[in-house]
Amino acid sequence: MKSTEFDLHKELKRFFGFSQFKGLQEDVVKSIISGHNTFVIMPTGGGKSLCYQLPALVLEGTAIVVSPLIALMKNQVDAIRSLSTEHGIAHVLNSSLTKTEVNQVKEDIRNGVTKLLYVAPESLTKEEYVSFLQGEKLSFVAIDEAHCISEWGHDFRPEYRNLRNIIKQLGNIPIIGLTATATPKVQEDILKNLEMPKANVFKASFNRPNLYYEIRPKTKNIESDIIRFIKQRQGKSGVIYCLSRKKVEEIAHVLQVNGVSAVPYHAGLDAKTRAKHQDMFLMEEVDVVVATIAFGMGIDKPDVRYVIHHDIPKSLESYYQETGRAGRDGGEGYCLAYYSYKDIEKLEKFMAGKPIAEQEIGFALLQEVVGYAETSISRRKFLLHYFGEEFDEVNGEGADMDDNVRNPKHKVEAMDDVEKV
Ligand code: ADP
Ligand code: MG
Repeated sequence: MKSTEFDLHKELKRFFGFSQFKGLQEDVVKSIISGHNTFVIMPTGGGKSLCYQLPALVLEGTAIVVSPLIALMKNQVDAIRSLSTEHGIAHVLNSSLTKTEVNQVKEDIRNGVTKLLYVAPESLTKEEYVSFLQGEKLSFVAIDEAHCISEWGHDFRPEYRNLRNIIKQLGNIPIIGLTATATPKVQEDILKNLEMPKANVFKASFNRPNLYYEIRPKTKNIESDIIRFIKQRQGKSGVIYCLSRKKVEEIAHVLQVNGVSAVPYHAGLDAKTRAKHQDMFLMEEVDVVVATIAFGMGIDKPDVRYVIHHDIPKSLESYYQETGRAGRDGGEGYCLAYYSYKDIEKLEKFMAGKPIAEQEIGFALLQEVVGYAETSISRRKFLLHYFGEEFDEVNGEGADMDDNVRNPKHKVEAMDDVEKV
C-alpha cells in the first residue's frame, strides 16, 4: 500500500488532534506505510509512539507492538482507546488475562477491529499466541525500546534477542525498531540481530542546546558547594542524583537542616512515601528531589532547572538520560556533575562479581565517562560524538553552553584540577 493513498495530515488530526508532525515523524510514518523495515532513533520525548501508532491505525490488519513495560503498554492502550469509539482497537496480551479476555482479544483481531496489539516479549514466545497470530492479517511488528536487544544498551533483556525468530514464524512482515539509545554500537547490534541491514534508518539529533554542562572536581566541600548552588536558585526545581540510598538520605538531610526544601527518593522507601515525595516535587511543595536512578523513569516535569550529579554515573548514556530531565520546556537547564577518579574506582568495584563479558562492557563504558569528565574540549561535542553525531563547536546550537568552552583551560591544568582532589 502506498503512503500517497492516505492524507497523513488529515489522519494525524483525526486520530491525535495534532496539526503538525514533529521532527522526522512524517518520513518515518511513510516508510512504515510503504512496508519498509524501519529503524528510528529519537531522544526521549521525541514522539516515537506516534511513528508506529498512526501507520497501525490506517493500515489494514493488526500491528504487533513489543514493549518491555506492562505499565507503559497499559497507558498507551488507554490513550489509543480514547481516540476511538471502538474499545477493541487496541489490546494488551499478557499472562494476567483470563481465558475469556484472551478469546475477546482473538475475536477482535480476527474481525479486523484491533489495530494495535501490545505484547511483552515473553508473551510473544508463547506457542498458543504464535500459532494464533500466524493465521491473522498483520501489518507490521514494532519493537519499542529496541536497545533491550543489545548488551551494550543500558537495559539488556535476553528475551528481546529471540524476537527475530518468532517474527519469522509470523510471516514476512515489516519490522520497526525504535529506541532513544543513540550509540552506534547499540544501533549496529539492533540492526544485526533483527537481520535488517537495509532498513530505512531515521536518526534525530540528540543535541539539547538549552542545557549547560559543567564538571567540577569533587572535593570535601561538595556539600557546601551544592547548598550554595541551590540557594542561588531559590524556588527553582532541581534533581540531585546520588549513587547510593545512604548518600541520598544523607544529602537530603544536610539540605533540610540548611533550609533547603528537599525530599529523598530511592527504591528503599515504601511505595507510598515515594509517590508522596514525587507528587510534592511535581506540585512544587519542595524544590529539590535527592534521588538514586530509581527516580525519573517517566517523570515529565518540564521546568526542572538543574540536575546535579553528586556521583558520576556509570555510562554517558545514563548521564545523558539523567541530565536530559532538565530544561524540557526549552528554558534553562544547568547540568552540574562532581567528578573524582575515586568514584570511578568505586564503580569498578561494583562490577567485580559480574560475568567477565559484562565487566568488559562496563569498563569500556566507564572509560568514556572518564574521557568526558577529563576532556578539555567542548563537552557537547564530546557527548554528541559518543552518540555518533558530528557537532560544530563554533556555530552549532548551544556551542558555548559548557564550562570548557566558556573558560578554556590548558589540558594539563584541567588534569591538575582533577588530581588535586
Ligand atoms: P518517546 O516515546 O519518543 O519518548 P512519546 O511517543 O511518548 O515520545 O511522545 C512524547 C510526547 O510528544 C507525547 O506527549 C506526545 O503526545 C507528544 N507528541 C508526539 N507527536 C506529536 C506531534 N506531532 N505534535 C505534538 N505533540 C506530539
Ligand atoms: Mg517511548
